[in-house]
Amino acid sequence: MKSDKELGMHTGISRRDFVQGMAVGVAGVAGMGSAPLSQAVAEASATAGGSSHANDYPPSKTGLRGSHPGSYENAHALALEGKGFPEARALDERYDLVVVGAGISGLAAAHYYQQRFGSDARILILENHDDFGGHARRNEFHQAGNMRLSMGGVHNLEWWNFSDNVWAFMKDFGIDVQAMREQRDFAYGRTAKYDSSMWFDKETFGVDKLVTGLAIDVPGGASDAKIDEIPISEEGRASLKRLYARTDTVLDEMGEQAREDYLRSISYPEFLKTYGGLTDDAIALFNKLLHGGWGAEMRALSAQEVLEEGFPGYQLVGLDVGEGRWDYPVAMWPDGNASLARLQVARLIPEVAPGTSAENIALASFDYDQLDKPERAVRLRLSSTVVNVSEANDAVAVSYIRDGEVVSVQARHTVLACYHVIIPHLCPQLPAAQREAMKYQVKSPLFLTNVLIRNTDALDVLGIDSVRCPGRLMENIFTFRGINTGGYVHPIDDTGAVALVMWGMPSPPDSAITRDDQHRASRAIMLGLSFEDYEREVRRVLDGLLGPAGFDVANDILAITVNRWPHGYSLEYLDLWDDDWAPGEAPHEIARQPFGRITIANADAGASAYTQAAIDEAFRAVSELPAGPG
Ligand SMILES: Cc1cc2nc3c(=O)[nH]c(=O)nc-3n(C[C@H](O)[C@H](O)[C@H](O)COP(=O)(O)OP(=O)(O)OC[C@H]3O[C@@H](n4cnc5c(N)ncnc54)[C@H](O)[C@@H]3O)c2cc1C
Repeated sequence: MKSDKELGMHTGISRRDFVQGMAVGVAGVAGMGSAPLSQAVAEASATAGGSSHANDYPPSKTGLRGSHPGSYENAHALALEGKGFPEARALDERYDLVVVGAGISGLAAAHYYQQRFGSDARILILENHDDFGGHARRNEFHQAGNMRLSMGGVHNLEWWNFSDNVWAFMKDFGIDVQAMREQRDFAYGRTAKYDSSMWFDKETFGVDKLVTGLAIDVPGGASDAKIDEIPISEEGRASLKRLYARTDTVLDEMGEQAREDYLRSISYPEFLKTYGGLTDDAIALFNKLLHGGWGAEMRALSAQEVLEEGFPGYQLVGLDVGEGRWDYPVAMWPDGNASLARLQVARLIPEVAPGTSAENIALASFDYDQLDKPERAVRLRLSSTVVNVSEANDAVAVSYIRDGEVVSVQARHTVLACYHVIIPHLCPQLPAAQREAMKYQVKSPLFLTNVLIRNTDALDVLGIDSVRCPGRLMENIFTFRGINTGGYVHPIDDTGAVALVMWGMPSPPDSAITRDDQHRASRAIMLGLSFEDYEREVRRVLDGLLGPAGFDVANDILAITVNRWPHGYSLEYLDLWDDDWAPGEAPHEIARQPFGRITIANADAGASAYTQAAIDEAFRAVSELPAGPG
């Protein structure tokens, strides 16, 4: 195995920092070439993404991002160590509304508040990160005078179940999802010129081996010849071939409903073993395949949940999955849903990004210095962790920590749009049953790493665009290009610098049994890894995968941004772990009850890990606020 030096670990740091500091004006965005770094040095200009503070402009920061160092320590001290903080110094600031959390939901709450109480309402939004958008985070890279965008968290809008509210919201912001869909050639590698592929690594499988034209999770995605190339036992390969070829059905004697109930009571790996006849090493190939999609290890999911998505074995239980999970409506921006967050901020505080619209949002210049100005009706305060929210005397006092000091402001109303698990610690006033219900929301951890590579030469030599890596930390890799929305253009066939997205979650150890314990164990692994650990993993994988095709791992990686989201997807109820609650009795319904002048938003309140849920819950939270004076 290569040493750190051979992998370019140490030379990479200065390069990474340099790329971060570089920048462009909006004019140079489209058609980024693959100029060498020396040329990039010469072409670097003075501003980043239009910000006046190139090195401080959050979207351009690389290294450990997402829940970045410095953003969560105070919340963890409060929630995990029960730490008390000094009494807050009261600021001379009083607002109509204080929102906790500047994710899509918190920003939407501010929007709905203006609609309900007037656009002159004084609003303060507090956010613990150094950027807004919550999970909807923008990653910007600059090289050779051009900008490459990628998503740092939320990928897209999936509009199959938008409510009327959400449609109205989109219309209000000028977002035409159908038009956006047509401007998107990117499809996670599925409709690109190359087939799906899998990479098997030496540490796990005894050999570094790329198999192109192989997708074990898709109907028809694994021919016998391709299965023969998978480096597992002969028996394992034979069991896979048998499963894909089977046309019989199982569990017929049960009848349809009883069979479905039964399939909801066993895990998918259990099904593969008992009814699919797979060996353990063949089953292990599937363990991580839904890390990105569901934020869960396969053993946390029921057979029914996975088979309905068209995973192998669906034919054994008579399911007709058709196009299955690939056939759904999706719209994307080149920075994921960060553009949606930016559209909202530009509406709430126009001075931050004058002249911004849905048509130019991906390229719009954002001046973060304008976010928090006393003369404006709406203020957005970053790097501010709320540690206490209490209601007394017709007002709500909100305390937060910023720059190491605890301070407080007063509000007529407060919307808590933050993760639900922190709320019982912020707001001990809430009834015990409500606090208990909030603790049910154990979110799944996810990371999304962007690796800017110099060009796609090695990928083109190998004939790959997306790769599943069943043995590695970040299981799913794909190039991110071909999304031409919001004014940005990056053709799907561009061969220059591109962000390789490495996406998924750390697998929990076998000792973690329940879903929640699995999430907690994955989170502990995630938070225990340093940037250097992630960087070493990135370099090791890209060297093994692309090295044989000429990728020089010490020179061809231009930047690495690891977005880690220890509290990622909102908990959605799963067959194996959650009850069938009567209406009104599910934990999220108990958790989101209004409490006087305090109401509860966030996608957690909908038990649904979608942007539409974040918006719907904001609407409800604002409509529940009492109208009386305060
Ligand atoms: C990696 C990833 C990919 C995703 N992809 C998709 C997708 O493709 N499509 C989709 O629809 N959904 C996706 N989601 C789900 C996503 O959670 C929702 O779409 C939506 O963005 C949630 O918004 P929110 O405002 O409810 O929560 P969040 O985005 O979590 O925002 C809450 C904010 O509150 C802040 N906060 C927490 N505690 C405090 C405190 N004490 N003080 C101050 N601030 C605090 C948090 O830091 C955060 O910024 C994805 C999620 C992740 C993590």
